[in-house]
Amino acid sequence: LLNSAVERSKLGLHTIEQYEPLIGSAAAERIAMKADRVRAMRVAHVSSTFYGGGVTELLTPLTLMMNAMGIETDWHLIQGTPGFFGCTKKLHNTLQGENLDLSEAERAIYEEVVFENATRLHLEECDAIIVHDPQPLPLVSQFPDREMPWLWQCHVDLSSPFAPVWSYLSGFIEKYNAAIFSLPEYAQHLGIDQHFVPPAIDPFSPKNGELSEKEIRQFLANYKIPTDRPLVVQVSRFDRWKDPLGVIDAFRRAREQVDCTLVLVGNNASDDPEGHVILESLEDSIDGDIVILAVNDPILVNALQRQAAVVLQKSIREGFGLTVTEAMWKGAAVVGGNVGGIRHQIKDGWNGFLVKTPDEAAARIVQVLKDPQLREQLGSRAKESVREKFLMSRLLEEWLDLLIRYGR
Ligand code: UDP
Repeated sequence: LLNSAVERSKLGLHTIEQYEPLIGSAAAERIAMKADRVRAMRVAHVSSTFYGGGVTELLTPLTLMMNAMGIETDWHLIQGTPGFFGCTKKLHNTLQGENLDLSEAERAIYEEVVFENATRLHLEECDAIIVHDPQPLPLVSQFPDREMPWLWQCHVDLSSPFAPVWSYLSGFIEKYNAAIFSLPEYAQHLGIDQHFVPPAIDPFSPKNGELSEKEIRQFLANYKIPTDRPLVVQVSRFDRWKDPLGVIDAFRRAREQVDCTLVLVGNNASDDPEGHVILESLEDSIDGDIVILAVNDPILVNALQRQAAVVLQKSIREGFGLTVTEAMWKGAAVVGGNVGGIRHQIKDGWNGFLVKTPDEAAARIVQVLKDPQLREQLGSRAKESVREKFLMSRLLEEWLDLLIRYGR
């Protein structure tokens, strides 16, 4: 018990050899050879939080694994104020399509706080700098004489960014050597190289590793989650783009036809100021059929995704949707919004279902709950598609390719 408690409390330092049973020895050797080519490099990632959200989920295993392979890889954070994170959340919302410009004062706050952070970053020794998302984007302006490549990776859904905000940000983006987006359909008019690299999951992390039936029961009991009826689950930050109200609506419609409990779990990223407002807006919906938990516990997420009869991710915008990948890896039947990265993971009717409206979501919940065999079938195909396309080893390899190409 002690060993498993220690193991599950660790960040998850894994080597490529551990992936061999999942990806085969030829792939593992190819990746190790690419790592050899960049071993002398020093790489720095910059993002805005260690806590919550998809970027953290990616950078934790990626930076650890790069170090395990001998590539000196740092991860720096930029610090923000509530005013700063208010501006960057607004930027995030406008990149995902909301029509709302930043005022002059907001732009000034955004740039000034990033510039203050720049004074503390001594990146001269690095051979490549990788900046994540809009929060630290303007950093590049503070290093005009740099010799190393700067790469900007944007993880949000860029299918229809608000044009004035995009053109403002482009002024910073075009100072980078290349921009990296999650999906080809997020390509933009930019005067720099663009690459498309979808995210991936760490199959050995506390969130994704195996759990026994007994452990699942224990974790759910710890949080007083009832398991007498089938569970419908959504795991998401409390964010309007994740459509929690649509989830509740879909659940209520399904509940008229089948017996089930809805569990909504959300943590709150420390750079996301809107979470508590969204959470409060849901409180009136709580009743005997609906459990809403605001906690940050990866093993609870793991247990819920394994126990769920249906996992929902009814997003209306979704850069990629790691929660979908995580649930599919566990063999869950996932019903996802027909948007962004979810569309690249779920092939409708084959390894999950894609839906637009609460009505459609309700119909799929009912269909899966009435047909346990369907759940098994969707789930086993889902797991296989994650193994093929969305494991961390693939993401690592794509980053090695980018470093081979751009690193100095
Ligand atoms: N997450 C979590 N607990 C929660 C909500 C989310 O651990 O209560 C994790 C989730 O498992 C996933 C990440 O946060 O790994 C969210 O990534 P995703 O791409 O789904 O969405 P984002 O938050 O980046 O928009």
